[in-house]
Amino acid sequence: MTTLAASRPASAKAKAAPAYRSVNPYDGKVLKTFPTLTDRQLEEKLEAAARCFEAWRHVSYAERAVVVAKAAAILHAKADEFARTMTLEMGKRINEARGEVEFSSNILAYYAKNAERFLAAVRLNPTVGEAHMESSPIGVIFGVEPWNFPYYQLARVAGPHLMAGNVLVVKHAGCVPQCAIAFEKLWIDAGAPVGLYTNLLISHEQSDHVVDDPRIKGVALTGSVAAGRSIAARAGRNLKISSMELGGSDAFIVLEDADLEHAVKWAVWGRMYNTGQTCCAAKRFIVVEKLADRFLEEFKAALAALRPGDPMDERTTLGPLSTESALMDLLKQVDSAVAKGAKVLLGGKRIDRPGSFMEPTILTDIRPENPAFRDEFFGPVAMFFRVKDEDAAVALANDSDFGLGGSVFTKDVERGKRLASRVETGMMFINNISWSDAELPFGGIKNSGYGRELGDMGIQEFVNKKLVRTGAIEAPV
Ligand code: NAP
Repeated sequence: MTTLAASRPASAKAKAAPAYRSVNPYDGKVLKTFPTLTDRQLEEKLEAAARCFEAWRHVSYAERAVVVAKAAAILHAKADEFARTMTLEMGKRINEARGEVEFSSNILAYYAKNAERFLAAVRLNPTVGEAHMESSPIGVIFGVEPWNFPYYQLARVAGPHLMAGNVLVVKHAGCVPQCAIAFEKLWIDAGAPVGLYTNLLISHEQSDHVVDDPRIKGVALTGSVAAGRSIAARAGRNLKISSMELGGSDAFIVLEDADLEHAVKWAVWGRMYNTGQTCCAAKRFIVVEKLADRFLEEFKAALAALRPGDPMDERTTLGPLSTESALMDLLKQVDSAVAKGAKVLLGGKRIDRPGSFMEPTILTDIRPENPAFRDEFFGPVAMFFRVKDEDAAVALANDSDFGLGGSVFTKDVERGKRLASRVETGMMFINNISWSDAELPFGGIKNSGYGRELGDMGIQEFVNKKLVRTGAIEAPV
């Protein structure tokens, strides 16, 4: 087999890699930096992962569950410690960070408990003989994950795929190396064999070589559309299975019969949770004329009341963005939207204090010809649209390159369900936007990607579905 180190030209090896830098976005202080792996180190890790698979694939579900459930228990027991690392490194408010750690623990526990049932052989009913489908692991899976949910994203791949008998090597985002390392240590502490879960501090170029490597059998990415295009194309060239969880610009539809107070509370949470840095956050607020003025007035007042502060302080209601560059990109996006005709109803600027803070922002008058109309605003920026009725709301919701999630608010739940069926997304929520549960599949269509994570579907993504047919059937003459 050609190894990674041997397959690369010397000039490529010398190229500068993106730094893994842990910076506190609350005050801009550099906490720690980490070098990327050398090609030799990467090769050793891939070899260990491949070796581990040869043993782990034969380990019983019950034995796998011991390790995965132990990891869940450690996350739960040390929730505060894990949460503080996240808050320091990417600015998530501490209560949200604790919630994320607990949720990650639940996901691992869920798969430890249910994986065997999800992957049990399924009996089929051919006209002649008997048949069943069995599920078996396929090998080392490469995960590429984003910083916005530094543990939850990892748990979403680790829980199902390790329980399925696969092993994981994971490239986490450059700005959360301490979370990435903490999650790898979690598996060591849980008694995982060497190579079961490996954190890779690698460059994009090295990542390409990992995708190409014959020991890698599948690629799971959560991230931007640009990263998805690049990595999915690479996986496709290698005929490797992949799942892509990409961006979104979810519609938040308020019909004229909605409970306004309820809708506004969800609107604030849906846009501002994680300082707006959520793939399936409510990003386009589409409100039917009759309620539009009142909705806008209350939404604006609630956003304006948020107070920036230390994300470690439980009283803080507005945290910083994850990095200075995330803030700069978002400010540029807002400026460009305004230059092309959008109006700023609230905010729009950096907050004058240390750290990467941005004012909660509402943009209106965004016409389809404005590039912002099709953009994802990954931060505290809401786009507001007024429409005449339900049909116009659906048409606007569907006029998007994304198709991740969406929500509708109406007192008539049956009407909400009918509308939900007409919106072209992977997920719809009626009178709530409770995005994610271990039990429920998560994922999108269009530029939001393909494949599903979580639930029963999440564990089926990287397994071989093998047909076995039995019966003394005579060969045709
Ligand atoms: P990103 O730039 O695409 O980064 C995500 C991950 O991909 C990081 O680990 C990044 O590494 C890596 N990456 C990016 N380009 C790469 C390349 N060419 N080769 C190898 N690795 C590459 O995304 P982000 O800005 O950090 O995250 C926000 C995006 O993720 C948003 O669009 C959001 O909607 C989406 N997201 C989607 C979901 C979902 O489930 N659908 C969930 C969360 C986030 P580096 O940090 O080293 O560049």
